[in-house]
Amino acid sequence: MSNNTDVLIIGGGIMGISSAYCLADLGCDVTVVDLGRDELASSYGNAGLVCPSHSVPLAAPGVMGEGLKWMFDPESPFYIRPRIDLNLFRWLMKFRSFANQEHVDRAVPLLRDLHLASRGLFSEWSDQLEVDSHYERRGLFYVYDSDKGMQSGLHEADLMRKANIPSTVHLGSAAIRLVPELREGLAGVIHYPDDAHVDPARFVDGLAQHAVDKGVTLINEAEAVGFETKDAQIIKVRTTRGDFMPEQVVLASGAWTPELAAMLRLRAVIQPAKGYSITYARPVESFNVPMLLVESRVAVTPMGPNLRLAGTLEMVGMDLGINERRLNAINKGAARYLNGVDSLGHVETWRGLRPCTPDGLPLLGRSERLNNLVFAAGHAMIGLSLGPVTGQVVARLITGEEPGFDLSMTKPERFG
Ligand SMILES: Cc1cc2nc3c(=O)[nH]c(=O)nc-3n(C[C@H](O)[C@H](O)[C@H](O)COP(=O)(O)OP(=O)(O)OC[C@H]3O[C@@H](n4cnc5c(N)ncnc54)[C@H](O)[C@@H]3O)c2cc1C
Repeated sequence: MSNNTDVLIIGGGIMGISSAYCLADLGCDVTVVDLGRDELASSYGNAGLVCPSHSVPLAAPGVMGEGLKWMFDPESPFYIRPRIDLNLFRWLMKFRSFANQEHVDRAVPLLRDLHLASRGLFSEWSDQLEVDSHYERRGLFYVYDSDKGMQSGLHEADLMRKANIPSTVHLGSAAIRLVPELREGLAGVIHYPDDAHVDPARFVDGLAQHAVDKGVTLINEAEAVGFETKDAQIIKVRTTRGDFMPEQVVLASGAWTPELAAMLRLRAVIQPAKGYSITYARPVESFNVPMLLVESRVAVTPMGPNLRLAGTLEMVGMDLGINERRLNAINKGAARYLNGVDSLGHVETWRGLRPCTPDGLPLLGRSERLNNLVFAAGHAMIGLSLGPVTGQVVARLITGEEPGFDLSMTKPERFG
């Protein structure tokens, strides 16, 4: 069976669905194929933070040293499984070369602009959905346990303020007046009032339904398994639900993108980084504003009737197994800062793979090797936040409009 469609999108996470939604709005005939196991998509159970305050890329000064320090602690928020893996080795070497201030200074304005545009779309689209995605703009509290942590938080807040991302600082007991759930004795809180949060699964599912209402064809349990190319064009995409002959193809397949790119003889330099979330029933009238418990690297997000804790970054390849010790470390990490989190009713445990590039910037743009291929992948820890704007950029690229952003730093084949 062969199917025709203007645009075939591979991957139905936030990137694929946002792209489909924007393309349908511009009158394109769009089909999305997805493996159909929602719970494995990174977009499903993440921390739900829409976070302009996270405009510093993952590759930043000091990150490498901190990572090495954590490597040997089984309860640390970061882990690389020791193994012989040339791709991982190359990725780490590249990461190290980008972890400097010059790279941060170049990346911050682009990330900030993308986050702010995306937050605007979250607000606009949430109003149009039939479901309540629990989108709220209440800001984000960065909570610091130690004076050393607080000092580095103040430094980052300064950097963000220079990029026009405002914040307020609340030290010692002033922090507890602001956030009553905090334990005594913490160093302080920095509040970024312009951040927002959402229930990611409700948002993506609601947007997918809205896209289908606009004419998008969404095919679940359809795995892309191969391609045919001719004259620098993809002419056929083979899937487990038939072949497609699209005019344009979008690779929005998250941590699975390197496998698909390899089928096209392209290299997508992405490493999967596993994280976990544990969702609990939220006590009435508390934990109303999301928090980042900085030294523990745990995010705490209210999502309607639920409260989600999320964290850890494990580089263990595509292994989706659940490591109970690291899961427990998330609970312990939260209890170190917060009263009342050890007796909440459990709702769901989840894990997902963040698609991480070595420079902390997504692969976003047209392929230089295949004329009808657009990449929308590799958004690492900020992919939910950047999802809607990525969809908008993809739709503009496909329809030949100006993308609206300088994409010279996000060229998909920039790593060679
Ligand atoms: C614990 C955790 C917390 C996080 N918290 C946040 C946060 O608070 N804020 C934030 O901005 N980001 C956060 N992130 C990151 C964010 O979740 C990701 O960056 C984002 O979801 C990536 O979206 P995606 O669409 O690229 O990938 P995915 O959501 O993973 O979607 C990719 C899709 O491609 C499909 N696919 C793969 N291969 C094929 C194939 N061959 N054929 C068909 N379909 C295929 C998969 O089934 C999947 O549905 C977090 C991540 C984790 C793990």
